[in-house]
Amino acid sequence: MISENQTLWEPAESDLQKATRLVQSLIRIDSSNPPGNETGILDILLWELQSAGITPVVVGAHSDRPNLVAKLAAAPENRTAPPLVLSCHMDVVPVANPDAWKYPPFSGELAEGCIWGRGAVDMKGFAVMALTALTVLSRKHVPVNRDVIFVAVSDEEAGTEFGSKWLVENRPDLLENPEYVLNEVGGFTIHRGAHRFYPVQVAEKGVAWLRLTARGQPGHSSMAVSETSLSLIADAICKLSKATLPWHVTDPAVNFLEGFTRVESKTAQQVAKLIFSKRAGSSIVKMIPDPAQRATVEALLRNTATPTRIDTGGGALNVLPSSASVDIDGRLVPGQTAESLMNEIRKVLGDKKGEVYSIEIIREAEGVVFPTDTPLFQAIEDVMLDADPDGIVIPSMIPGFTDSNNYAKLGATCYGFYPLKLDKGLDFASMFHGDNERIPEAGFHWGIRTLLELLGRFLVTK
Ligand SMILES: [Zn+2]
Repeated sequence: MISENQTLWEPAESDLQKATRLVQSLIRIDSSNPPGNETGILDILLWELQSAGITPVVVGAHSDRPNLVAKLAAAPENRTAPPLVLSCHMDVVPVANPDAWKYPPFSGELAEGCIWGRGAVDMKGFAVMALTALTVLSRKHVPVNRDVIFVAVSDEEAGTEFGSKWLVENRPDLLENPEYVLNEVGGFTIHRGAHRFYPVQVAEKGVAWLRLTARGQPGHSSMAVSETSLSLIADAICKLSKATLPWHVTDPAVNFLEGFTRVESKTAQQVAKLIFSKRAGSSIVKMIPDPAQRATVEALLRNTATPTRIDTGGGALNVLPSSASVDIDGRLVPGQTAESLMNEIRKVLGDKKGEVYSIEIIREAEGVVFPTDTPLFQAIEDVMLDADPDGIVIPSMIPGFTDSNNYAKLGATCYGFYPLKLDKGLDFASMFHGDNERIPEAGFHWGIRTLLELLGRFLVTK
């Protein structure tokens, strides 16, 4: 179904061409976090918005970690609902292995039908998509029924401290209690056999960054000592790396994983359900042949606790350290807390009473789950089915976290929706923080049209 008003909010060919150039320019500014270096990105967005007659506000804890908020205000006589926010982050994750890239990661090369570079997927592409949508709605005087707020934040990749967390804690007034937020990690094509799926993210795991410390007898290391603070930490790392923590099966994980089996036979669906079994699930998940897929499925069904950094205090080579610690990147299934994860860790270490190890919380943010029975989710589904009639929309959950974790504190319903039609062979998951990150130009333009169609239909009261 094509809506009657479609031409009102349809982007011009020149909007799409400009969007391509804009993504290229944003990619060419290396905003790897750390340190972030978001100011160059912000300057381009600022220029584009101002050229379109929209005046943004720039705020932040430091001038080199800025956040931008730009509002397309609804006319008072049309305003019937709280705002909808289009949110993106300007930083990207560092490039681990530039030699593995076919085109240099900050080249923004347009080649083989794709725009290449760090940030194309995560998430400079959506920054441009959302900005294009805002400027088209503004230029065409689309009579929106609520304010549409474009937000570009710093520091998502290193924990959101200077970005959305700062914004929500210090300038919530700029976001005006939004009803909805559209953000990253959803809306792209996943190919499975002959089927095309489009996940729309409605749940995220939480974070529990922990420090596990062991103490031992200090002394001269010329003596043979079997148990030291370091050996205890090494033992803890080995045990945690091999452990399978208990299953916590949540509705969003079930809905997401079952969404993929909807097209399978009834028998296959029954078999797939076994993965949710508290007792057998952890054995069944091991039968998934693809290692990346197996790891993702497992991460959706339990907490994880991954050791990442060891600290022995930097003493002399010939002295036993009196304490050693390891930092643990813990991720929480929605409903779980840092405390519940710490209990699971103590059980794995055989130290239920905490006599050998102490654990402190460095950072905690619980997981979030957003409802799917909303008019916006329904509108997303309708628009996606019109944009790809054979596609299958499924509400999804991610093992990571995004800025939505902070926006949830404002009471907003947040969806991961960056519509992107990916050709077979382009795997979103492997490009997200991976090598050879790229988006097909045609699929990106399809996404701009799809986002504008969604906004047009959803924001214009008939
Ligand atoms: Zn991201």
